[in-house]
Amino acid sequence: MSALHLNLVVPCYNEEEVLGETSRQLLAQIDRLQREGIADERSSITFIDDGSKDGTWRIIENLHRGDSRIHGLKLSRNRGHQNALLAGLLSAQGEVLVSLDADLQDDIEAIPKMIAAYRNGADIVYGVRARRDTDTAFKRNTARMYYALLRKFGVDVIPDHADYRLMSRRALEALRDFREVNLFLRGIIPLLGFRTEIVYYDRLSRFAGESKYPFVKMLALALEGVFSFSTVPLRWITIMGATLAFASFCFGFWALIIKLFEPQLALPGWTSIVVPMFFLGGLQLLALGVIGGYLSRVYTETKQRPRFIIEKSI
Ligand code: UDP
Ligand code: MG
Repeated sequence: MSALHLNLVVPCYNEEEVLGETSRQLLAQIDRLQREGIADERSSITFIDDGSKDGTWRIIENLHRGDSRIHGLKLSRNRGHQNALLAGLLSAQGEVLVSLDADLQDDIEAIPKMIAAYRNGADIVYGVRARRDTDTAFKRNTARMYYALLRKFGVDVIPDHADYRLMSRRALEALRDFREVNLFLRGIIPLLGFRTEIVYYDRLSRFAGESKYPFVKMLALALEGVFSFSTVPLRWITIMGATLAFASFCFGFWALIIKLFEPQLALPGWTSIVVPMFFLGGLQLLALGVIGGYLSRVYTETKQRPRFIIEKSI
């Protein structure tokens, strides 16, 4: 079988501490794949600088000078991991692209297995974490609950799959047609269809630097997954509202009966006023928040602003 044009797509935000080692290991992996006749001589690595504030771009330029197989894409400002990744996926050349993190947490030994799955006919190969004991217990548990919740909401996501995956040219061209601005690639990719395969790998720890995904960014991504892919929360608040309205109606009817037939029992009650007031107030705010979540997305989607702007490309 002829060698394929492979391109590794790596979004980077303030990753100056890891880029040297990452490119060394990725190049070694490409060398090996080229020697074994799996990857051809055009195979390369594309680093996307997501508007880093440190020396990330300078390092990418140096790496490019040292080895022409290293390509770089510089976004005009920080747009977040998902947008940087999309910029890479839609711009990089190659028959197959493999997206992975800059910190080598995605074990690169899975790449040959992904290519083998592609050879067997898969257009999309998901890297799924078999073990993730290098992540904190908090991250593991919240992630597990989150994936369960998403599935309850009817969103087709692969549990324990982040953005480590192989995509064929066909799948990438299909991805281009998804014009949404609010990006949650993990939700979009399963919508593409095609034959998919899973490759398991062990999640390693970040070998240098610290996470560029603080809790707030993680939460934002999690909300994206819900609001951009499911309208079930809207149905839930409708059902909740209807149930409460019915209960209130029964309560009112009961109060009227008491008032008419047992007036001595109908004492002015503080609890029965205050408790439902707080409860309903809270519920209404929650419902407004959920509706606001959808409304804000309609707002951003209708503007159709560009999802990334490339400043430079080497
Ligand atoms: N990243 C990015 N833009 C951002 C934040 C992160 O391109 O605004 C990249 C980062 O450089 C890394 C990947 O996204 O390659 C995953 O980030 P990180 O490893 O910090 O996340 P964690 O593994 O802690 O979830
Ligand atoms: Mg990481």
